[in-house]
Amino acid sequence: MYYFDPHIHMVSRTTDDYETLAKMGCVAMSEPAFWAGFDRGSVESFRDYFRQLTDFEPRRAAQYGVQHYTWLCINAKEAENVSLSREVIAMIPEFLDKPNVLGIGEIGLNKNTRNESRVFLEHLDLAARFRQQILIHTPHLEDKYQGTRMILDMLIGDSRIERSRVLVDHVEEHTVRTVLEEGFWAGMTLYPVTKCTPQRAADIIETYGPERLMVNSAGDWGPSKPTAVPDFILEMRRRGHPESLIRKIVYDNPLEFFSQSASFRFTAPELRGHS
Ligand SMILES: [Zn+2]
Repeated sequence: MYYFDPHIHMVSRTTDDYETLAKMGCVAMSEPAFWAGFDRGSVESFRDYFRQLTDFEPRRAAQYGVQHYTWLCINAKEAENVSLSREVIAMIPEFLDKPNVLGIGEIGLNKNTRNESRVFLEHLDLAARFRQQILIHTPHLEDKYQGTRMILDMLIGDSRIERSRVLVDHVEEHTVRTVLEEGFWAGMTLYPVTKCTPQRAADIIETYGPERLMVNSAGDWGPSKPTAVPDFILEMRRRGHPESLIRKIVYDNPLEFFSQSASFRFTAPELRGHS
């Protein structure tokens, strides 16, 4: 089955991973900007990172027939440095008309601090001014519930933000309902240990239905599995769900959400090679 991975950090994966994903049916992916495992020292580090995301990665993906899209921001961990964050936010517009940029992300909260909130609001303003879609990171474990509520309140508080153009990621059993009820899209991250397993994601689909829900691997430099979306497909098949339902979650939904961005120019695999 063809599928999208709407959240994966390919800068920290190998070219062999691109090949494996392509063989498993991955036809498109989106890569939000995130933390590199260490705090970067200057705005120039981010400028180089954004060049990697908008130039090198799409070319590496294209060698395997995978379309690569990206989102730009300074992540919540580094947002504690407010002056650096402001320099990065001021520089982002240089990249917004690159052909694979879908919007601003993954912005969000990590420890739910005042500085993180301040930088989050400044990213929202950037997105609104440039009519960009938004991809949201919600915090982990004990900070998730409160952080998700804070994020939703900030999004709802800015009347310029269209909820149908916002994807709130890393939802779990205790946050998915609110995100969907408020009119946002929701992403479930399939991780081997934390976040959702493929089984828990399938349970959530059975509880809430498939509308405005997606699954992703969030594969990165830590313990993670870039082929987690195919694991979810297998779990859904094992439970006897129809192919049309599975396809809606892993293909139709991401296609519908991403199509709201002017830079999303996806060609379905069936149509490639025809002029
Ligand atoms: Zn991520």
